[in-house]
Amino acid sequence: MGAPSLTVLWDPRFREYDLGPDHPFNERSRALAVRLFEATAPAGADIDWVRSVSPAPRETLEEFHGSEYIDFIGRAGGYENPILLDAGDTPSFPGCFEEAARIVEGADRGLAIALEAGRPAFHPAGGLHHARPDRASGFCIFNDVAVAIARVVRQGRRVAYLDIDAHHGDGVMYGFYDSGRVLDIDVHQDGRTLFPGTGFPSETGRADGEGLKVNLPLPPLTGDEALVPLFRRVVPPLLREFRPELIVLQHGVDGHLGDALANLQYSPAAYAEVDRLILGLAKELTGGRLLVTGGGGYRASAVSRVLARTGWLLAGLSPPSDGTELPDAWRAEYLETIGEEAPRSWADSEPPTGSRWNSEHEEKLVRELEERLGRRFPKPGSS
Ligand SMILES: [Zn+2]
Repeated sequence: MGAPSLTVLWDPRFREYDLGPDHPFNERSRALAVRLFEATAPAGADIDWVRSVSPAPRETLEEFHGSEYIDFIGRAGGYENPILLDAGDTPSFPGCFEEAARIVEGADRGLAIALEAGRPAFHPAGGLHHARPDRASGFCIFNDVAVAIARVVRQGRRVAYLDIDAHHGDGVMYGFYDSGRVLDIDVHQDGRTLFPGTGFPSETGRADGEGLKVNLPLPPLTGDEALVPLFRRVVPPLLREFRPELIVLQHGVDGHLGDALANLQYSPAAYAEVDRLILGLAKELTGGRLLVTGGGGYRASAVSRVLARTGWLLAGLSPPSDGTELPDAWRAEYLETIGEEAPRSWADSEPPTGSRWNSEHEEKLVRELEERLGRRFPKPGSS
């Protein structure tokens, strides 16, 4: 057998990052994604599984987080009863320090493996992109992606960070706002309509980072018709010009149609299209060095199937067709975990409704980016 095509980092203890029975965030749907990928990937697929991940040591957390904040989380993790770690969205839980630090270690190891081995790494439990150096935010205690990026940036490397979560990845963007070594491209639901209320085209970076932070806000109800053409138009030229050594993709699935917290309407096909595009760019520009993390996602049927399919694509496999039935054992596990009937097949056809996005909206957003960034984004295929 040759070298594996993909490394997947999944320690079952990632499920312990659970903000409580009445809170929307837990790792259950991402666990189901991993189980579905495992249950369906062809036996011959050469996948390297990292199934044991220790909590990141303090010096790793300090790549991004402040010492006092790390101490505060350490104390909070010892309390039996939850306290709020931010203004209201992110409660502590017993052991939260270890479990948040374990997710950080997954990203840090994943990025190191991708860098060393020249292949993609997949960390479905990661992508906690809201946490700031000195505070929790938006269900995120430690910012696993920012910690991993900070380490390789300190080594002098250039990283492209792409974020397709429905929420703007503010913790990462502001964390590297001045950095000339981090290109940050973030497509999300307009901050005037969704947490965290940031991520506008006017936010382009500062100092060495000027022109390297690129925000694509979309109005509620938009879907594939906006995401895919914008991605094709804006992402490849920026990456080719920046020439990253590594690509990190925060692959939140809360932009999916029917998500409980956001109002976008992406389809499974659009996610697959983005995955293929990023894989192609990683092959072209970084020798395959790519870390893909999970992120938000509050509709288990969408998160589990979309991220399992991402696993197939990252491993270089042709994923099953939409109508292919899902294994009964997995469906039983889904029912037990989520308490709802599992989907029957890989993707169902749910038509989006109400999007008003058209080519004029695309032109308007692209023109604003062009003015802010001082460069052009011709439509692919035109000049
Ligand atoms: Zn999100």
